Amino acid sequence: MGCGTGLPSDAQVVNDEMCDVCEVWTAESLFPCRVCTRVFHDGCLRRMGYIQGDSAAEVTETAHTETGWSCHYCDNLNLLLTEEEMYSLTETFQQCKVIPDCSLTLEDFLRYRHQTAKRGSSGRALSEEQEEQAARQFAALDPERRGHVEWPDFLSHESLLLLQQLRPQNSLLRLLTVKERERARAAFLARGSGSTVSEAECRRAQHSWFCKRPTEAPSCSVSVSHVGPIADSSPASSSSKSQDKAPLPTEPESRFVDWPTFLQESVIYILAARPNSSAIHLKPPG
Ligand SMILES: [Zn+2]
Repeated sequence: MGCGTGLPSDAQVVNDEMCDVCEVWTAESLFPCRVCTRVFHDGCLRRMGYIQGDSAAEVTETAHTETGWSCHYCDNLNLLLTEEEMYSLTETFQQCKVIPDCSLTLEDFLRYRHQTAKRGSSGRALSEEQEEQAARQFAALDPERRGHVEWPDFLSHESLLLLQQLRPQNSLLRLLTVKERERARAAFLARGSGSTVSEAECRRAQHSWFCKRPTEAPSCSVSVSHVGPIADSSPASSSSKSQDKAPLPTEPESRFVDWPTFLQESVIYILAARPNSSAIHLKPPG
């Protein structure tokens, strides 16, 4: 059975050989994207304005860690939307008086969520519980607790919600790259016994996609110099991440999921983990 990856199990992802910008082959220092197979010269990225000033050193370091770095195509989740989806999103922004390219405070964010809920299928404003959930999502989008969410992070979040609403699961699965499927497969195999994993492990994996940085402590976002290898499945990384949120509900681990189900249930979170920003663009439940 192909296990849904469409690849023989010993397949290796091969990165492109030429810089995506200048299309020149050079052996030295090409940055691979962690999501797609594109590679880049840092000089070319700088020349094109994709990395600027201070962030260059960070890109250089991050790209060579296990965490990796997403290229400008993969970093922008908004690019996953079709033209019609983008049009509908822009229209919603206009109607809800969201100003493009401006950051949003918690108040702005909640007001917008209330308005979209009223316009949605239920036709009602958010319940108290939904409002709390929205506030938790805001906090996840503002990991450095600056009191506002940057526009690109907000746009990524809204793009994900739209994808989740409008696209059938199979079409979401087609958005995954070979690298993402392989990482998911490795996480599945590391967590499971045989051909299934428990639902609790599946949940933990969904949280672990967001270990983009070695630590997500608010003060550590500037330096990436202490990066060690990050094991997706390491208990240390998942416990340090869960400090500021409610503990996972202690549910009976009775339900087991197989690989196709695991991938289906994780796909939106795998996509959500693409951007380089330390924000969590779609907070998994629990
Ligand atoms: Zn890429």
